[in-house]
Amino acid sequence: MSAIDLHARPSDSYEAKLAHTTAVLTSAAAEHGSRIVQATSLGAEDMVLTDLIAKGHLSIAIGTLETGMLHPETLALLARIESHYGLRVQAMQPRHEAAVHFVEQHGERAMYQSIELRKACCALRKLEPLSRLLEAKTAWITGLRREQSDGRAGVPYTEREANGRLKLNPLADWTWGDVWHYIAVNGVPYNPLHDQFFPSIGCAPCTRAISLGEDFRAGRWWWEDELAKECGLHVKPEGVAA
Ligand code: SF4
Repeated sequence: MSAIDLHARPSDSYEAKLAHTTAVLTSAAAEHGSRIVQATSLGAEDMVLTDLIAKGHLSIAIGTLETGMLHPETLALLARIESHYGLRVQAMQPRHEAAVHFVEQHGERAMYQSIELRKACCALRKLEPLSRLLEAKTAWITGLRREQSDGRAGVPYTEREANGRLKLNPLADWTWGDVWHYIAVNGVPYNPLHDQFFPSIGCAPCTRAISLGEDFRAGRWWWEDELAKECGLHVKPEGVAA
């Protein structure tokens, strides 16, 4: 059974949500011009956003974090986006020396040794490249949804970050069923790992399939405490409102 068979069930307000998301993307593109980027995780939600951006011919750049640890299926999807939509995806990689030095010092499996080392790996493979992707940008777009985890239950449609940059989460109120309904109806390319019970896909060493009844993000950093389960991309510094 595919992820579409399993999940594509639109909510009653699906059409209204779709209209709202389309309007948010269209007005953000008009407002920010060349200074807005979709930071795609290449997950199902982000594929919906990329599809809307492509079909709307919106002037929103697409960028992703090519951490050096992605599954082959994820890398193949990256190439597929470019061929399917004719869009260039800016793949931000970690600084080579920093990645090599980290592995030399701590080994290939450092992320399993401690939360500190896992976060250090995320910092050099994700946070630093993200900061370069967002350089000179006045706004960025994510596929965050409230339903994804307790920690994301309060995700707003838009938030002003401490540095003044606008963060847009146009799918904040979409359900998982809405996401897959959109993908099914629009023939959106997606990561085949979703068909193998990977709802949330990150780096290969830090992602596993989930079992029936497990939480959406149970397959991410599964060896860690629930509270630690973010890579830092969407964590606010203390004192900054959500
Ligand atoms: S998700 Fe895992 S492999 Fe990827 S950057 Fe974080 S710790 Fe490293």
